[in-house]
Amino acid sequence: MKTNTKIAIFWHRRDLRLDDNAGLYHALKSGYKVLPIFIFDQNILDKLEDKHDRRVEFIHHALREMQEKLTNLGSKILVKYGKPNNIWQEILENFDVAEVYTNHDYEKYGIERDKEIGEILNSKGIAFYTFKDQTIFEKNEILSGAGTPYTVFTPYSRKWKDTLNDFYLKSYTNEDYFNNFLEYSPLLWRGVGGEVSLSDLGFQPSNIAFPSKEIQEKTIQNYAEQRDIPSILGTTRLSVHLRFGTVSVRKLVQKALILNEKWLNELIWRDFYMNILHHFPHIGEGKSFRLVYDNIVWRNNEDEFRKWCEGKTGYPIVDAGMRELNATGFMHNRVRMITASFLIKHLLIDWRWGEAYFAQKLLDFDFSANNGGWQWASSSGCDAAPYFRIFNPTSQTQKFDPELKYIKKWIPELNSFDYPKPIVEHTFARERVLKVYKEALK
Ligand code: FAD
Repeated sequence: MKTNTKIAIFWHRRDLRLDDNAGLYHALKSGYKVLPIFIFDQNILDKLEDKHDRRVEFIHHALREMQEKLTNLGSKILVKYGKPNNIWQEILENFDVAEVYTNHDYEKYGIERDKEIGEILNSKGIAFYTFKDQTIFEKNEILSGAGTPYTVFTPYSRKWKDTLNDFYLKSYTNEDYFNNFLEYSPLLWRGVGGEVSLSDLGFQPSNIAFPSKEIQEKTIQNYAEQRDIPSILGTTRLSVHLRFGTVSVRKLVQKALILNEKWLNELIWRDFYMNILHHFPHIGEGKSFRLVYDNIVWRNNEDEFRKWCEGKTGYPIVDAGMRELNATGFMHNRVRMITASFLIKHLLIDWRWGEAYFAQKLLDFDFSANNGGWQWASSSGCDAAPYFRIFNPTSQTQKFDPELKYIKKWIPELNSFDYPKPIVEHTFARERVLKVYKEALK
């Protein structure tokens, strides 16, 4: 049985919230009753080796929260597991759909998926409307005077700030239209199921708490002084919420404008890297932003890579970072820079190996920010560190963890014989990488 009145569907992906959600707002104002849906995408989940992957758990958790809110409104989100085109066929067999709404995705897989689904919908005469929601500016909204994309952060951020006005920051008042959600009807849902547990997906809960999505105003106010100290909670830990859209970036920018411009810059970095991915899609295909850097001849020693992953390089700040990542799915930004630089420059291991390891482990994994961070560290990226800049883990420790508080938290055996000797000597490694880079960039 199909609905006898036409409905609109809103497809949630990286925007797991009902408030201030651009695409959902337009769906709710469409004049049709709105059925929200989410698809646990088998194409993505099949690639996750770790069946305790906490990102799947995070999404599951966020959907449960949305489900509670929708149930109170007499509605329900339809949650499915499978390949998007199969699920869409099934939905279209069960509901009489007039229009579908969603928010833009900028990653390669997401763009291809949306193109395919858009074609299926259009072939059936169903309109597919997509909106900007993840970023403040997208695509061609921030270009240089010459009409080209910026590849350097400072002028990009200047133009970003000059272009910003209330129009871009206005919150969408979704709550004014909440009575336009489709009323839940067991009869109607008979053919589609609609509840998916973690174990249905083949995943297990971890029972580790996720960072809060409350905005810690004190942290933002003290950001400039505390952001680089990994032993304290000096950054907001909102990254996972930005990743899955459990908070609205517009609301965070509104806060940042009041509280601290330094922190605002971090949100602009996020936009910047998303824009880089849009304008330079070759980085989504595993290539260096600056192609000449693909001439580097890496050592790619697998044993050394494994030691780096496990936090057993004998460089305490590197090992502490990797252990934090393995244990929690988070690593402090300063330490992300140090561990990435160490893998690439001290061990001469292809940055793509490290990028892939972070992608597997980070709770906040986002292709554009992760790729941006790795290509920054490897010097192959836009606005990257020059190649001769090689972090010295010892001086980084003296500067940012002088009392070894962070290190000791993650390496209790630091002063015992169990802790390994350094995997490579710093000055030797520095000279080695300089030679290899020079040779490649000739
Ligand atoms: P805060 O310092 O409170 O910053 C607020 C928000 O701004 C962050 O939540 C994030 O969304 C954004 N932001 C901050 N710094 C950056 C940055 N350099 N680039 C892009 N956005 C930024 N960030 C991710 O969100 N996902 C990743 O996969 C990721 N991989 C990284 C890999 C490497 C090698 C490096 C050096 C950095 C990476 N970052 C990534 C950027 C940064 O480390 C994290 O965003 C930050 O540590 C998250 O902590 P927070 O939420 O407390 O950030």
